[in-house]
Amino acid sequence: MKPRILTIDPNNIDIGLIKQAAEAIHNRGLVAFPTETVYGLGANALDSRAVTGIFEAKKRPLDDPLILHISKIDDLFLLAKNVPPEAEKLVNRFWPGPLTVVLEKTDMVSDIISTGLETVAVRMPSNPIAKKLIELSDVPIAAPSANLFGKPSPTSAKHVMDDLKGRIDIILDGGPTEIGVESTVIEFVEGRSIILRPGGVEVDLIKEIAGDVEIASEGDHTIKSPGKYPQHYSPNAKVILVEKGPQQVDELLSQVKRLTSEGHKAGILASQGHEEYYKTFNVKVLGPGENGEICASRLFHLLREFDSEGVDIIAAEEINEEGLGLAVMNRLRKAAGPDPE
Ligand code: AMP
Ligand code: MG
Repeated sequence: MKPRILTIDPNNIDIGLIKQAAEAIHNRGLVAFPTETVYGLGANALDSRAVTGIFEAKKRPLDDPLILHISKIDDLFLLAKNVPPEAEKLVNRFWPGPLTVVLEKTDMVSDIISTGLETVAVRMPSNPIAKKLIELSDVPIAAPSANLFGKPSPTSAKHVMDDLKGRIDIILDGGPTEIGVESTVIEFVEGRSIILRPGGVEVDLIKEIAGDVEIASEGDHTIKSPGKYPQHYSPNAKVILVEKGPQQVDELLSQVKRLTSEGHKAGILASQGHEEYYKTFNVKVLGPGENGEICASRLFHLLREFDSEGVDIIAAEEINEEGLGLAVMNRLRKAAGPDPE
């Protein structure tokens, strides 16, 4: 029966269990492990067959590149070359942590990982279980999020089980993840620093180190990255977003009443303080609308909860895009899919 679930206390790590997982990595196994962002599905990045297994288990399209995870900064220079000074400054400041840098790849990185691009995405996670696993495996670990492709990323071992049971070898259960949204992905092109995906490191903090930073617009298809798939991070339910402002509650209520009268099973994702207005409906509180950190830590879990209740439409209040709120709104917009034109 797959997978084996190994429960580990991140504050008191049982090295013996991590060794078992590292051994599985060496034997072409697939190991799900907690990071500070979301759970990752890891394989030995130097073994193309093992890496292929990640795409198969997740049903991930072969043109969606993987992030490589390392446990020390020096290893970056084995995987990437011509590293620009801004990238070096950023990794020195934010690693270990939720920042992924996209750089020119070396020959050590196979085409299956970079999906034929000349670049590679690299990150050094701070979660102690993740760090120890990479260290003891002694190879870079290729790891996308440990969910079925397109589903909300997993923030607990249970989410990983729900999506990947029977398809992977080991789950290291280190409890719920801290941040709850994926890493910030940043690319460097001809002296420009471009955020391809807002995530765990806030844009303002990045600007303090890297100066001028652009944020790739979501519809920009010239950028070969996360925006490529317009609908992503989606629960089974359809997501509709309701703009902030004085009309937000009335607008959301009128939409949900209409949908309910049409026979839909609606759920409401509300900012803290608004739940009272919606109490006759199935409402869940994302967090204070001005606190992106709390909202980020709850987002994917709540989207999955609505799914497990058979909700077919989620009406979500937009929140403030400051701090991690930007990543939260980016995921909600992706979950809602492209605007009908
Ligand atoms: P995941 O690990 O599932 O959160 O997905 C990793 C994200 O990083 C994907 O959306 C990729 O598009 C992005 N990514 C990985 N490698 C590259 C790369 N070489 N260039 C641009 N984006 C990348
Ligand atoms: Mg993913």
